[in-house]
Amino acid sequence: MAVISYLTKIQFDFGAIKLLADEMKLLGITRPLIVTDQGLVKSGVLDTIRAHIPNDFDVSIFDGTPENPTEAATRAALAVYKENKCDGIIAVGGGSSMDLAKGVRLLATHDGPLAQYAMVEGGVPRIRPDIAKLIAVATTSGTGSEVGRGAVIVLEDGRKLAIVSPHLIPNVAINDPELTLGLPAFLTAGTGMDAITHCIETFLATAVNPPADGIALEGLRLATRSIETAVKDGSDRQARWEMMMGSMMGAMCFQKGLGAVHALSHPLGALKGVRLHHGTLNAVFLPAVLRFNRPVVGDKYDRVAQAMGLPDGTDIADAIADLNARIGIPASLREMGVGDDALDAIAEAATKDHAHPTNPRKATREDYRKLLDEAMAGN
Ligand SMILES: [Zn+2]
Repeated sequence: MAVISYLTKIQFDFGAIKLLADEMKLLGITRPLIVTDQGLVKSGVLDTIRAHIPNDFDVSIFDGTPENPTEAATRAALAVYKENKCDGIIAVGGGSSMDLAKGVRLLATHDGPLAQYAMVEGGVPRIRPDIAKLIAVATTSGTGSEVGRGAVIVLEDGRKLAIVSPHLIPNVAINDPELTLGLPAFLTAGTGMDAITHCIETFLATAVNPPADGIALEGLRLATRSIETAVKDGSDRQARWEMMMGSMMGAMCFQKGLGAVHALSHPLGALKGVRLHHGTLNAVFLPAVLRFNRPVVGDKYDRVAQAMGLPDGTDIADAIADLNARIGIPASLREMGVGDDALDAIAEAATKDHAHPTNPRKATREDYRKLLDEAMAGN
């Protein structure tokens, strides 16, 4: 059985942010809550967004999104939403702000706590369509959460879990590559590798969804041919456009399912005491997981290599490791600051992650532990 669903309204191009007010009016939003983070306040991107909202709209702002969104921060944003009688949300940022905004739109009409809505807790049917309206303005090219059904949030109990429902897809996505021109190189690299991982894991996932496979390969083609240029010269408009398109396509297709890379990076993103960037974690795991999956993927690696513009017969695990090195991704988890003490618990949590079941090769707890060891040592 295949579930195939493509419904998102996306305004995509340089200058798309100019349509923000029109889209707000179409949705009937006049008292928006903007959900964003401190980085975008300091970089001036938030001011750019605000300049496109008419003065007679009553704007409230929550700018406290953490690096990995938490239930506590979601509640803090919800309090601002309720206190100011907001009638819709504008998420401005990368995956963290967008996922946090999805949590707020859910809790605006649904009782907490969030755990009851987590996918692995059987939460999908508990999410009703009557949630707050959301416009997602992407400022990075990686997560694609602006077109995705999921919100990955660190819950009160410490687990980082996905809350998934077609109702959580933003009403409108605004993808304006102009907003990514000032993204620093290390974030361009980390977020870009998230997009590349989404495309590769989707293409390899076991579910049946040929449209997703087609989108994944084209998204991979665009992102791999542009990522090095975007990292080295952030002002290259063509590269920024292609990275944003590759990112959006990666998330549009990953409704098919992800795999072991994400099953490992989700619990690591919930670790206390160290701030680990999701996309950078994925980049570090990807070569090891590609080697692990190789025995079961048939000719799919040839098709991945083709999409990446690589010669026939190229080892794509080595190619990704080389790409990581060229764009400044850390060589290992250890270099990112991960210690050995948490690894057993991460391996256990990976077997319970929502991305685990669609990995092409069934991974046991011991397999995940070995993958973690490889990623600790480096590729
Ligand atoms: Zn991801």
